[in-house]
Amino acid sequence: MKVEFSKIKGEKSFVLEREGVEAIYTLKPKNRELLFCSQKIAGKIETLCNRCGTELVVDVDETTQLLISNGIYNGFDDQLDIIEADRGVIDFDETLSGELHLIESGYFYCSNCKDSETEEIVIE
Ligand SMILES: [Zn+2]
Repeated sequence: MKVEFSKIKGEKSFVLEREGVEAIYTLKPKNRELLFCSQKIAGKIETLCNRCGTELVVDVDETTQLLISNGIYNGFDDQLDIIEADRGVIDFDETLSGELHLIESGYFYCSNCKDSETEEIVIE
């Protein structure tokens, strides 16, 4: 879903769905060049156990606060992730793909590996 930056005048919410995951976006203008964006992702994603490679389905439920800049962002913000809207257009499909990819590439362990992990810690 693509949203034109200049068309966001007030608070606006929408939902994107993707392979078992639902993402709720809420946009709110901060000023003419910046939008606050809350990204809530909930559902299940498929990933692999980081140790043995077994396929896993992981529950996801996370909310991220983003700042969307109309064009290149020159400021600095250590609290919020910054997204730059290319030519005034924000591509939320891309934003969601990036976020899901980030989640999938995290560390997950299947129940077997989780158990052996605990044992190792006990042995040490
Ligand atoms: Zn495993």
